[in-house]
Amino acid sequence: MSISANIKSIKTKIPENVTLVAVSKTKSYNEILEAYHAGQRVFGENKIQEMTQKWSELPKDIEWHMIGHVQRNKVKYMAAYVALIHGVDSLKLLKEINKQAKKVQRVVPCLLQIHIAEEETKFGFDREELKALIDSRVLQELEHVQIKGLMGMATFTENAKQIRKEFKTLGAMYRALRKELPDITELSMGMSGDYPIAIEEGSTMVRIGSSIFGARNKT
Ligand SMILES: *Cc1c(COP(=O)(O)O)cnc(C)c1O
Repeated sequence: MSISANIKSIKTKIPENVTLVAVSKTKSYNEILEAYHAGQRVFGENKIQEMTQKWSELPKDIEWHMIGHVQRNKVKYMAAYVALIHGVDSLKLLKEINKQAKKVQRVVPCLLQIHIAEEETKFGFDREELKALIDSRVLQELEHVQIKGLMGMATFTENAKQIRKEFKTLGAMYRALRKELPDITELSMGMSGDYPIAIEEGSTMVRIGSSIFGARNKT
Protein backbone atom coordinates (compact mmCIF):
# COMPACT_ATOMS: atom_id res chain seq x y z
CA MET A 1 0.00 0.00 0.00
CA SER A 2 1.06 3.61 -0.47
CA ILE A 3 2.09 5.89 2.39
CA SER A 4 -1.16 7.85 2.14
CA ALA A 5 -3.26 4.66 2.09
CA ASN A 6 -1.38 3.40 5.15
CA ILE A 7 -2.09 6.64 7.03
CA LYS A 8 -5.77 6.48 6.13
CA SER A 9 -5.99 2.89 7.25
CA ILE A 10 -4.27 3.57 10.60
CA LYS A 11 -6.52 6.59 11.19
CA THR A 12 -9.55 4.30 11.02
CA LYS A 13 -8.03 2.19 13.81
CA ILE A 14 -7.20 4.95 16.28
CA PRO A 15 -9.73 7.15 18.10
CA GLU A 16 -9.85 10.82 17.08
CA ASN A 17 -8.41 11.98 20.39
CA VAL A 18 -5.26 9.87 19.92
CA THR A 19 -2.42 11.71 18.15
CA LEU A 20 -0.64 9.86 15.36
CA VAL A 21 3.08 10.59 15.34
CA ALA A 22 4.46 9.45 11.97
CA VAL A 23 7.95 8.15 12.72
CA SER A 24 10.00 9.25 9.71
CA LYS A 25 13.55 8.43 10.88
CA THR A 26 15.77 7.35 7.94
CA LYS A 27 12.98 8.28 5.49
CA SER A 28 13.47 10.71 2.60
CA TYR A 29 11.95 14.16 2.09
CA ASN A 30 9.76 12.73 -0.68
CA GLU A 31 8.36 10.05 1.58
CA ILE A 32 7.67 12.61 4.30
CA LEU A 33 6.03 14.93 1.79
CA GLU A 34 3.76 12.14 0.64
CA ALA A 35 2.55 11.76 4.22
CA TYR A 36 2.30 15.56 4.52
CA HIS A 37 0.11 15.75 1.42
CA ALA A 38 -2.10 13.07 2.96
CA GLY A 39 -2.69 15.53 5.82
CA GLN A 40 -0.10 14.30 8.32
CA ARG A 41 1.52 17.14 10.29
CA VAL A 42 3.18 15.42 13.27
CA PHE A 43 6.44 13.59 12.62
CA GLY A 44 8.85 11.81 14.97
CA GLU A 45 12.61 11.47 14.59
CA ASN A 46 15.23 9.87 16.82
CA LYS A 47 18.37 11.75 15.78
CA ILE A 48 18.63 15.48 16.43
CA GLN A 49 20.87 16.21 13.46
CA GLU A 50 18.61 14.39 11.00
CA MET A 51 15.51 16.06 12.46
CA THR A 52 17.09 19.52 12.29
CA GLN A 53 17.99 19.05 8.64
CA LYS A 54 14.45 17.92 7.84
CA TRP A 55 12.95 20.80 9.83
CA SER A 56 14.99 23.31 7.85
CA GLU A 57 14.06 21.85 4.44
CA LEU A 58 10.43 20.79 4.87
CA PRO A 59 7.18 22.78 5.34
CA LYS A 60 7.16 24.93 8.45
CA ASP A 61 3.77 23.79 9.70
CA ILE A 62 5.18 20.34 10.52
CA GLU A 63 5.40 19.56 14.25
CA TRP A 64 8.68 17.76 14.93
CA HIS A 65 8.77 15.37 17.87
CA MET A 66 12.04 13.99 19.23
CA ILE A 67 11.25 10.38 20.17
CA GLY A 68 14.74 8.96 20.65
CA HIS A 69 17.35 9.07 23.37
CA VAL A 70 18.60 12.65 23.77
CA GLN A 71 22.24 13.55 24.29
CA ARG A 72 22.55 16.66 26.41
CA ASN A 73 25.15 18.33 24.19
CA LYS A 74 22.73 18.26 21.24
CA VAL A 75 19.68 19.83 22.88
CA LYS A 76 20.76 23.26 21.66
CA TYR A 77 20.21 22.28 18.03
CA MET A 78 16.49 21.58 18.48
CA ALA A 79 15.51 23.96 21.30
CA ALA A 80 14.23 26.62 18.89
CA TYR A 81 11.69 24.46 17.11
CA VAL A 82 11.05 21.04 18.68
CA ALA A 83 7.34 20.56 19.43
CA LEU A 84 7.65 17.72 21.96
CA ILE A 85 10.55 15.76 23.44
CA HIS A 86 9.29 12.25 24.31
CA GLY A 87 12.35 10.66 25.85
CA VAL A 88 13.34 12.78 28.85
CA ASP A 89 15.03 10.34 31.20
CA SER A 90 17.00 12.40 33.71
CA LEU A 91 16.88 15.60 35.72
CA LYS A 92 20.20 16.63 34.17
CA LEU A 93 18.62 16.47 30.74
CA LEU A 94 15.60 18.48 31.90
CA LYS A 95 17.91 21.17 33.24
CA GLU A 96 19.75 21.36 29.93
CA ILE A 97 16.47 21.59 28.00
CA ASN A 98 15.40 24.37 30.36
CA LYS A 99 18.67 26.24 29.81
CA GLN A 100 18.55 25.99 26.01
CA ALA A 101 14.83 26.81 25.85
CA LYS A 102 15.45 29.91 27.94
CA LYS A 103 18.08 31.12 25.46
CA VAL A 104 15.52 31.03 22.65
CA GLN A 105 12.70 32.30 24.88
CA ARG A 106 10.60 29.19 24.58
CA VAL A 107 8.83 26.76 26.86
CA VAL A 108 9.60 23.30 25.48
CA PRO A 109 6.98 20.57 26.03
CA CYS A 110 8.47 17.31 27.36
CA LEU A 111 7.38 13.80 28.32
CA LEU A 112 9.11 11.86 31.07
CA GLN A 113 10.23 8.46 29.82
CA ILE A 114 9.35 5.59 32.14
CA HIS A 115 11.19 2.29 32.11
CA ILE A 116 8.52 -0.40 31.77
CA ALA A 117 10.26 -3.06 29.67
CA GLU A 118 12.18 -6.06 30.91
CA GLU A 119 15.20 -5.14 28.81
CA GLU A 120 17.89 -3.29 30.71
CA THR A 121 18.79 -1.37 27.58
CA LYS A 122 15.71 0.82 27.50
CA PHE A 123 16.03 4.22 29.13
CA GLY A 124 13.76 5.89 31.63
CA PHE A 125 12.77 6.62 35.20
CA ASP A 126 11.43 3.84 37.37
CA ARG A 127 8.50 4.36 39.72
CA GLU A 128 10.63 5.48 42.68
CA GLU A 129 12.71 7.86 40.61
CA LEU A 130 9.57 9.43 39.17
CA LYS A 131 8.12 9.89 42.64
CA ALA A 132 11.35 11.45 43.89
CA LEU A 133 11.39 13.86 40.95
CA ILE A 134 7.78 14.93 41.47
CA ASP A 135 8.16 15.24 45.25
CA SER A 136 11.33 17.31 44.94
CA ARG A 137 9.34 20.18 43.42
CA VAL A 138 12.29 20.93 41.17
CA LEU A 139 10.04 20.78 38.10
CA GLN A 140 8.28 23.97 39.18
CA GLU A 141 11.60 25.82 39.05
CA LEU A 142 12.26 24.85 35.45
CA GLU A 143 10.22 27.61 33.87
CA HIS A 144 11.20 26.79 30.31
CA VAL A 145 10.10 23.18 30.27
CA GLN A 146 6.51 22.02 30.44
CA ILE A 147 5.89 18.43 31.49
CA LYS A 148 3.04 17.20 29.31
CA GLY A 149 2.96 13.56 30.39
CA LEU A 150 4.71 10.21 30.20
CA MET A 151 6.23 7.99 27.51
CA GLY A 152 7.22 4.35 27.54
CA MET A 153 8.29 1.46 25.34
CA ALA A 154 7.21 -2.12 25.92
CA THR A 155 9.57 -5.06 25.75
CA PHE A 156 10.38 -6.13 22.19
CA THR A 157 8.44 -9.40 22.19
CA GLU A 158 5.62 -11.23 20.41
CA ASN A 159 4.05 -11.93 23.79
CA ALA A 160 0.92 -9.76 23.80
CA LYS A 161 0.21 -10.55 27.45
CA GLN A 162 3.56 -9.18 28.51
CA ILE A 163 3.10 -6.03 26.39
CA ARG A 164 -0.35 -5.45 27.84
CA LYS A 165 0.96 -5.86 31.36
CA GLU A 166 3.65 -3.23 30.76
CA PHE A 167 1.24 -0.77 29.14
CA LYS A 168 -1.24 -1.33 31.97
CA THR A 169 1.48 -0.42 34.48
CA LEU A 170 2.32 2.76 32.59
CA GLY A 171 -1.36 3.66 32.16
CA ALA A 172 -1.86 3.40 35.92
CA MET A 173 1.22 5.54 36.62
CA TYR A 174 -0.08 8.15 34.19
CA ARG A 175 -3.53 8.31 35.77
CA ALA A 176 -1.99 8.55 39.25
CA LEU A 177 0.33 11.35 38.14
CA ARG A 178 -2.58 13.32 36.67
CA LYS A 179 -4.00 13.61 40.18
CA GLU A 180 -0.84 15.44 41.25
CA LEU A 181 -0.18 17.33 38.02
CA PRO A 182 -3.60 18.03 36.51
CA ASP A 183 -2.07 19.79 33.50
CA ILE A 184 -0.57 16.66 31.99
CA THR A 185 -2.54 15.36 29.05
CA GLU A 186 -0.34 12.96 27.10
CA LEU A 187 0.59 9.31 27.40
CA SER A 188 2.90 8.33 24.53
CA MET A 189 2.86 4.57 24.11
CA GLY A 190 2.41 2.20 21.19
CA MET A 191 4.36 1.55 17.98
CA SER A 192 3.53 -0.33 14.76
CA GLY A 193 3.54 -3.73 16.44
CA ASP A 194 1.63 -2.90 19.60
CA TYR A 195 -0.44 0.30 19.22
CA PRO A 196 -3.89 -1.39 19.40
CA ILE A 197 -3.00 -2.73 22.87
CA ALA A 198 -1.54 0.65 23.89
CA ILE A 199 -4.76 2.45 22.92
CA GLU A 200 -6.83 -0.02 24.93
CA GLU A 201 -4.61 0.75 27.91
CA GLY A 202 -5.08 4.52 27.64
CA SER A 203 -2.48 5.84 25.18
CA THR A 204 -3.11 9.34 23.82
CA MET A 205 -0.21 9.33 21.35
CA VAL A 206 1.06 6.49 19.15
CA ARG A 207 4.46 6.56 17.41
CA ILE A 208 4.15 4.64 14.16
CA GLY A 209 6.93 4.20 11.60
CA SER A 210 7.07 0.96 9.62
CA SER A 211 3.29 0.57 9.28
CA ILE A 212 3.25 3.93 7.47
CA PHE A 213 6.54 4.06 5.58
CA GLY A 214 7.46 0.37 5.29
CA ALA A 215 10.47 -1.34 6.80
CA ARG A 216 13.61 0.70 7.54
CA ASN A 217 16.91 -0.56 6.16
CA LYS A 218 18.90 1.23 8.85
CA THR A 219 17.99 2.66 12.25
C1 LIG B 1 11.48 3.79 15.65
C2 LIG B 1 10.63 4.12 16.82
C3 LIG B 1 9.23 3.98 16.76
C4 LIG B 1 8.49 3.46 15.55
O1 LIG B 1 8.71 2.09 15.38
P1 LIG B 1 7.85 1.21 14.33
O2 LIG B 1 7.94 -0.15 14.86
O3 LIG B 1 8.53 1.38 13.01
O4 LIG B 1 6.47 1.75 14.30
C5 LIG B 1 8.49 4.35 17.87
N1 LIG B 1 9.07 4.82 18.98
C6 LIG B 1 10.41 4.97 19.08
C7 LIG B 1 10.98 5.50 20.34
C8 LIG B 1 11.22 4.62 18.02
O5 LIG B 1 12.55 4.76 18.13
